[in-house]
Amino acid sequence: MNSLSPQALVQKSQEAKNFAYCPYSSFRVGAAVLTSDESVFTGCNVENACYNLGVCAERMAITKAVSEGHKTFKAIAIASDLDDQFISPCGACRQVMREFGLQWDVYMSKADGTYDKTTVEELLPCSFGPDDLRARKSSPTNDK
Ligand SMILES: [Zn+2]
Repeated sequence: MNSLSPQALVQKSQEAKNFAYCPYSSFRVGAAVLTSDESVFTGCNVENACYNLGVCAERMAITKAVSEGHKTFKAIAIASDLDDQFISPCGACRQVMREFGLQWDVYMSKADGTYDKTTVEELLPCSFGPDDLRARKSSPTNDK
């Protein structure tokens, strides 16, 4: 099966950007995640009058995919309106991507659709993940 091209995934992230709800920042972001079985889930940023409750496009796309049974990903594309720089995912989104593996691609795009390809591992080196919870650890002390 031919994999969806990076350009096509970027295009889907740009389409998702059109649904961004960002009345406070006016900073539109879209994301499109490609699953191992070639499904695509999209997301946009959704802000809130209680600023802290805003959700990023990347996490929106990933949580939508997981909520429908998809947990292995090939790539995620991210779009914004930035003309001169590639949109970079925030730290929280990097950690959520990392939950589902280190070796998958991240396409950070500019408004014109050009993109910079990287990986989750490159974006979040020396990360903490699911395996760390299973690693050997000393017994907690309860000697109060
Ligand atoms: Zn984010």
